[in-house]
Amino acid sequence: MNGAATPTDWQVAGIPVLVKRSARRRTVALQVKPGEVTLYAPARVPDTKLLEILNARRDWVAGHLAQYARTIPSAPPPLADGQPLAFLGDALTLRLVQGVTHPERRGDTLNLPAHDPESALEAWTRHALREPYGALVAGYAASLSAQDRLRRVLVAGARGRWGSCTSDGDIRLHWRLSRAPLPVLHYVALHEAAHLLELNHSPRYWVHVARVMPDWQTQRAWLRQHGHTL
Ligand SMILES: [Zn+2]
Repeated sequence: MNGAATPTDWQVAGIPVLVKRSARRRTVALQVKPGEVTLYAPARVPDTKLLEILNARRDWVAGHLAQYARTIPSAPPPLADGQPLAFLGDALTLRLVQGVTHPERRGDTLNLPAHDPESALEAWTRHALREPYGALVAGYAASLSAQDRLRRVLVAGARGRWGSCTSDGDIRLHWRLSRAPLPVLHYVALHEAAHLLELNHSPRYWVHVARVMPDWQTQRAWLRQHGHTL
């Protein structure tokens, strides 16, 4: 993560703040985009002053980043032949093949119909994830001694959140999380499994998460910074 080299003062929620100075600027402006924070400043404003401005709006920036991180972009970018695709920690290569009607994985190659590969990939992924997602969530529910409260594990799609948990014990994980590094996927699975014990984000809730995954904050920061690219 490139945030590692940035001093924590110049980060918000694990995301480095990019400072762009320009001689023509007269005012300081903060811009927040998914996984990206930019501070535009006149050339001569000292860093200490910029940090003051950033600190005054820290909660506002963090709120926007959290909102972006929760929301899955509705349309992933179009797929190209030969494109690499991360899938549950494997590095697959996509092939868009004329005349193929159904997705087919052979080793690390995934053949997709050249016509509308995007929906074929989503259908294939959602089907392929049922078992691994189920096992993953069940495993974390067991580590939390909450397996009795887990009802169903479902692969979610379309818009919405990376994961959710209902009071009935239904947990949903988004299919596009299969493209994230495995520890990030594990974090979301644990995050939702911990909601079987606490349906909120209270300090008590985070104690459950931290007990099972002490470095959960690193994984959450990754999702905030890179989630929109999945
Ligand atoms: Zn939550």
